[in-house]
Amino acid sequence: MVIQPKIRGFICTNAHPVGCAAHVREQIDYIKQQPKVAGAPQRVLVIGCSTGYGLASRITSAFGAGAKTLGVCFEKEPTEKKTATAGWYNTAAFHEAAHAEGLYAETLNGDAFSDELKAETIARIKAEMGQVDLVIYSLASPKRKDPESGEVYSSTLKPVGKAYTTKTYDTDKDLVKEITLEPANDDEIANTVKVMGGEDWERWLKALADAGVLAENAKTTAYTYIGKELTWPIYGHATIGKAKEDLDRAAAAIRGDHSDLNVEAYVSSLKALVTQASSAIPVMPLYISLIYGVMKEEGTHEGCIEQIYRLFTEGLYADNAVLDEAGRFRMDGKETNPETQAKIKALWDQVTQENFHELADYEGYHADFLKLFGFGMAGVDYDADVDPVVLWS
Ligand code: NAD
Repeated sequence: MVIQPKIRGFICTNAHPVGCAAHVREQIDYIKQQPKVAGAPQRVLVIGCSTGYGLASRITSAFGAGAKTLGVCFEKEPTEKKTATAGWYNTAAFHEAAHAEGLYAETLNGDAFSDELKAETIARIKAEMGQVDLVIYSLASPKRKDPESGEVYSSTLKPVGKAYTTKTYDTDKDLVKEITLEPANDDEIANTVKVMGGEDWERWLKALADAGVLAENAKTTAYTYIGKELTWPIYGHATIGKAKEDLDRAAAAIRGDHSDLNVEAYVSSLKALVTQASSAIPVMPLYISLIYGVMKEEGTHEGCIEQIYRLFTEGLYADNAVLDEAGRFRMDGKETNPETQAKIKALWDQVTQENFHELADYEGYHADFLKLFGFGMAGVDYDADVDPVVLWS
């Protein structure tokens, strides 16, 4: 099959196995060029391991620290007629690269919110790893089935309190336009917290501890985006921000509940980047295209892998890591500092349909978007006939 990108709205509905493998390889190569992560964990569970920040966390653990990694993700396998999702191909490529270096790498594909998948994960840890000393929680999902009630909750991306009118960029129509987002009601806020808040992170840690597979002095982190004034109305102070605030509560609860094991639980704030999750958020493609331009010019631009390597070396496994007032690791400072934000704000005020491509780095944004699905990678022949059926070993 010759595989070319099929873009529908903010998503690409197919993926290229060779391109995804090249994208994974690029991140592995980056990590291999960095100094090893000193004092890093040797047995790592990554929940949400197949794309974006979770995949970068897995690559950093394995290739930066030589860790065994067990991953959990929710991806579609390929058929003769339809490609797999990118996360599937990424996982296949990660397994191959890890196994080639004698590193343990296994992945469970299923619903991380379910008790069944938690039980399966625990059984695998018991049988193959003994315990885990780092748990990365990197899920991004639009819905969650509560394992106790069976009820399915959906998250919404809406402002809180009042309607918000803003500029946005429609990637599909190449159009800068104004949108008004109506405020969420109380149910929508509560449901978003249920999906993207800290409840499931706590359930994971409890299940692992109860089963005796959480090591003493284990660390765990969940990822957040805090941002600044430009994104607060749709992110930080919006429904998703409310869910992310709940992570701070959950981190404290995890530390308290597992103090017998001296578990360290942190929320880590990362910068805005193109991922499958962020391209679905209104305003983000415009904001990210602008920060790409500004940060590339400043020489401060980073991708998922650079962010996570710094999180490990300057945060999680640093001797004198600095936490913010809420006890979080802040890897987003190069984006959120006042000087950089002022430059972005100035561009934001000026940007129109006419000057968008001049002021913003949409080319960079779009190239990164395509890379998420394995397209546009140098050295990959996109006219070649490839077999979409790539399985994990
Ligand atoms: P992503 O879409 O690239 O990755 C999501 C991962 O979750 C994938 O591995 C997917 O398979 C997995 N997943 C989703 N639903 C699942 C389920 N039910 N069961 C098992 N696995 C499931 O997203 P991302 O952008 O890397 O986001 C990861 C975390 O980082 C999120 O908490 C997000 O809010 C946070 N974050 C993202 C950004 C950004 O700009 N992208 C910035 C800061 C923080």
